[in-house]
Amino acid sequence: MDGVLEGGFSCTVCGERHEVLPLKYSVKAPQAVMTIPSDEIDSRVVITPEQCVIDNRDFYLRGRILIPVHGVESPFVWGVWAEISPTNFLRTNEMWNTPGREQEPLFTGWLNNDLFLFGETINLELAVRTQEVGKRPQFLIRDPNHPLAIQQREGITVEDVQDIAEMIYHRGWKDEE
Ligand SMILES: [Zn+2]
Repeated sequence: MDGVLEGGFSCTVCGERHEVLPLKYSVKAPQAVMTIPSDEIDSRVVITPEQCVIDNRDFYLRGRILIPVHGVESPFVWGVWAEISPTNFLRTNEMWNTPGREQEPLFTGWLNNDLFLFGETINLELAVRTQEVGKRPQFLIRDPNHPLAIQQREGITVEDVQDIAEMIYHRGWKDEE
């Protein structure tokens, strides 16, 4: 199976054994969408699995925060959304199917999901790294002292992945892939 560590783990929170240990959590929409009344969503929000525009004015791109896991081949992944400038949004669209787009320079984005494990993460500054056609962009945390940036740089352990699972399973952070 992709995106999980087989074998599960014994949970220190509920005392049960959870069957798999996820390496990946994702959210379907930017946080900004959650603040819009449900009867206004249709008229104000355009969203696809990869892109979102609110009020024809605020632009969001889905991407991945990758964190190496010591001793594990695949990285841990937060599938999240970044707000980006209109200019960068247009450029991203222009290059969507262009081979070689991974040569694009990094550009700035602002995280638009709340990863509660790390305190306040809304508007955390990111560098967006475009990937080859068909792959979601990578998000790099710009502030080198932010806990997420340290994890991106130094990696985490399987035990850390388990801690994350325990908090998510028992605090209801939605995994909606
Ligand atoms: Zn549990």
